[in-house]
Amino acid sequence: MNQELLTLYPKGLWDIFGHICDAPHPSKHETAVIKWYKEWAAENKIDVVEDETGNLLFSVPATPGFENRTPVVLQAHCDMVPQADSDKAHDFLTDPIEPIIDNGWVRANKTTLGADDGIGVAAALAAITDPNCQHGPIEVLVTIDEETGMTGAFGLKPGFVKGKILINLDSETEGEMYVGCAGGMDANFSRKYTTVATPSGMKGYKLFVTGLHGGHSGMDINLGRANANKIATRFLQKAVRNFGACVACINGGGLRNAIPREATAILTVPVAKAADFEAFAKEFETMVKNEFALTEEGLSLTVTAADAPAQVIEPKALNQFLNMIFAIPNGVQRMSDSMPGLVETSNNLANFIAENGEMSAKCLMRSSVNSAKEALGEKMVAIAELADCGIELTGAYPGWNPNLKSPIMNTCMKVYKEKFGNEPKVMAIHAGLECGLFGVCYPDWDMVSFGPTIEHPHSPVERVNIDSVGKFYDFLVEVLKNVK
Ligand SMILES: [Zn+2]
Repeated sequence: MNQELLTLYPKGLWDIFGHICDAPHPSKHETAVIKWYKEWAAENKIDVVEDETGNLLFSVPATPGFENRTPVVLQAHCDMVPQADSDKAHDFLTDPIEPIIDNGWVRANKTTLGADDGIGVAAALAAITDPNCQHGPIEVLVTIDEETGMTGAFGLKPGFVKGKILINLDSETEGEMYVGCAGGMDANFSRKYTTVATPSGMKGYKLFVTGLHGGHSGMDINLGRANANKIATRFLQKAVRNFGACVACINGGGLRNAIPREATAILTVPVAKAADFEAFAKEFETMVKNEFALTEEGLSLTVTAADAPAQVIEPKALNQFLNMIFAIPNGVQRMSDSMPGLVETSNNLANFIAENGEMSAKCLMRSSVNSAKEALGEKMVAIAELADCGIELTGAYPGWNPNLKSPIMNTCMKVYKEKFGNEPKVMAIHAGLECGLFGVCYPDWDMVSFGPTIEHPHSPVERVNIDSVGKFYDFLVEVLKNVK
């Protein structure tokens, strides 16, 4: 371990963090670090139990005089994202992370540092062994595999944890307090179709929609960016209706959590209408570029001559697909009532493919209000029914609806203001956090999330600000003392 870490404040936290760096803990391979946690608990005479999923729960009684306070759970995840620079030989399964102190920050040697969320775990364990930390009954919940599936949070069972207030230590900007997140659900549309021989006298084209920004389907959904699938469908529908086009295949978008940046299709148009069609394509491009002039300056829609395909999608099925994709709601559906500026419910029409007799479309719906997400799912089912299409709603996980009356949030606000003189920012995100999943088994938990300042998590330039770690820790200790 890098002994220099022990010169940093607070020493107890950095000592634990140094040991965490020594024990490999990439997502799904946390055995070594969990072994170290158990040894640490034994050395410090702290009870620790492991659930069937692999989550650890440390329990510590109240300090004298604090026995009647509401029991608190400090929570952090024990895995890290393994990323190394291409010129760095590093085996995340066996090699220790090498923390380096660099001008007010701690980073690693050409790898991710795992401050996300090693600092969170270290802060929790440091607090429960800190003789200057006064607190009520306290548990530390260390979840596994947050980064590649939130396996630990999904696997948490009712009754395992006794606390009533949960403080999540996995936020990445000191001075921000998280009080809400979105849940999610997938909608998978699929059906088979038949093809017919391409009518004679047709000219082949390939359609390209490119140059869009894309982005994260939750965090960026409020930016009004264009969806390549929507633009391609709108174009194809006009091509079919106004020019008698036939379509052989369509392929747009990709990952479910990415706003689609590109779409392509192969189509045919009667030779007699080819010139008009080409002119229309140019006008259409100008029109959509105009609509998205301020958000998608790189948008491009082009048609280029291609070999006419031998087979095309049977026209009735094609009409149903295009109508369906056209009708599926996309983007922001509603803004939050409880949290100004937060997206409440959204959908990302991520992916649309019609190839080789199979049509499929994939959506990721998000909402901080579980019933609103379910209602959006029902709308998807209704659209699928109208289009004679199969649909499956899967992968549902709940959100965390912001509660601005949350007692722990109000305690945090008050303590922060008294200690630092300014109010922290109250935030919620339109993406998934472990806190959302905890609501399944522990619907009555009063929750808040905060952390130190971590830059570029999940990348080899990840770094954590040393001053912010001290501030975050002092704040945590003060909050624990002030829990009623
Ligand atoms: Zn994290």
